[in-house]
Amino acid sequence: MSAPLIISARRVHTLDADAPPASFVAIDGDHIVGVGGPEERAAFEGPETRIADFGDATVVPGLNDSHLHPVWGLELARGMDLTDAGPLEAVRRRVAEEARRGAPWILGWGLDPNVFGPEGPSGRVFDDAAGGRPLFLRLRDAHSAVAGTAALEAAGVTGAEEFADGSEVAPGADGRPTGYLKELSAMDLVARHIPAEPVQERAGRLVELLTAMARTGLVSAHVMDFAEGTREVVELVESRGDLPIRLRFSPMVPPGASLEELREAAALQRRGGRRWHVEGAKFMIDGTVDNGTAWLERPDALGESRAPLWRDPEAFREALRFFIDRGVPTATHAIGDRAVRCVLEAIASAPPKVRARAPHRVEHVETVPDDTVAAFAELGVVAGMQPVHATRQTCADGSDNWSRRLGPERAARGWRCRDLREAGVAVALGSDWPVTPFDARAVIADTVLRRPVERPDLAPVQPDQALDMRMALEGYTTHAALVAGHERVAGRIRPGYRADLTVLGADPLACTPEELAAAPVLATVLDGRIQRHL
Ligand SMILES: [Zn+2]
Repeated sequence: MSAPLIISARRVHTLDADAPPASFVAIDGDHIVGVGGPEERAAFEGPETRIADFGDATVVPGLNDSHLHPVWGLELARGMDLTDAGPLEAVRRRVAEEARRGAPWILGWGLDPNVFGPEGPSGRVFDDAAGGRPLFLRLRDAHSAVAGTAALEAAGVTGAEEFADGSEVAPGADGRPTGYLKELSAMDLVARHIPAEPVQERAGRLVELLTAMARTGLVSAHVMDFAEGTREVVELVESRGDLPIRLRFSPMVPPGASLEELREAAALQRRGGRRWHVEGAKFMIDGTVDNGTAWLERPDALGESRAPLWRDPEAFREALRFFIDRGVPTATHAIGDRAVRCVLEAIASAPPKVRARAPHRVEHVETVPDDTVAAFAELGVVAGMQPVHATRQTCADGSDNWSRRLGPERAARGWRCRDLREAGVAVALGSDWPVTPFDARAVIADTVLRRPVERPDLAPVQPDQALDMRMALEGYTTHAALVAGHERVAGRIRPGYRADLTVLGADPLACTPEELAAAPVLATVLDGRIQRHL
């Protein structure tokens, strides 16, 4: 039992609407016991009390990223970081350098599909640069990759493969695969031949990654998978020390899952360690607009995005109900308007009392019409959104792949954070790392500006959907707690709640988005334990 702790700072934002301004948080063990101003503070001070004075700083509830893939992401982010790698020629040069370095496989991630031009993604265009070595580059949406000819040969991929879900090995004009692999089952044909990274190395990289996340103010995160090997890695980390942030894993239920697979995901619920646990089930009803694998009411400009990843939407509904009926929280990746509607209909099929037992959320929600916004509110369904995909991967002039495929009408309905909030829907924010960078300060700033915070030269995308700073902060705190069903223990600074805090060098409710993005994170507090970052 440690001595009581008082965290003091110039401002403490409890995010309780009716709470008076505060300047200290009192902590006993892993939970908050008091918060308030100078008059209240004396009651918590004794000879044993430790005091951490953060001077002019601002304390907010611990920031939570509501959608990311930190462990699976170690796999997704192996090799060259090709985020912003530039035009195709520049990517080819990087590949050639990597080949000269002698790596047995040329791996990369974060590649922008727009670099390939009208021909679309292909692995063959890297064959010369790769000099005969197998190449596997993941595109930035994490839903697709390009493999070079040598990699396809090593994996025995011929283009004749068939999939139980909407995955595809894209054929070229000559009938041979181009190396463009769409969706997880297609990518896995090649990915499983890449030599695995030893678990010791993965554990080391995970700690580095989570430490970097904590330095941006994150205290916890909702992990939208419990990918193979995750348990081994997190258990190894916890056998040596603490995870730098708390992780809540929702296992992925694959399209077309059998009853056995549903039972397995249900059996994992509440398993965990000190700073991680399994909670919820993650579904994917469609892919992405960029790949033409989203599920839209009307096909996109190339005639694609017309089908769900679950070949049988009725089977999806039944699988989702399996969890809803058991009171297990669900989260479904749904990007296209038809996909989102399908999820809402599946949730609506459960009696109101049954669906109220746990929060049910839709992830991404990239383009939806007005009646869908209203349906979220009516059903009490919550949204997990990444407006940072809009700011980092689309352009206001509509010249990018996402906007061109959707056309102006549907692109104008992109990432409707503001409309959902104003309809009364909880909107939790996240980065979807490794799809987009995880810095919580930058995601909040982008969400308010609707453009990359470091690019004042760019016009905002769908600027009427911008959140204000308070709403964006709520997306990382109170609303993040709501979408996980944790609103009685997390997301606010209130007696009885978890002692999870973020200490910032700027006041997010008084500074500009640019100032927040540049503000130092002095410390994060997790379960009452201070991690200083400066
Ligand atoms: Zn994701």
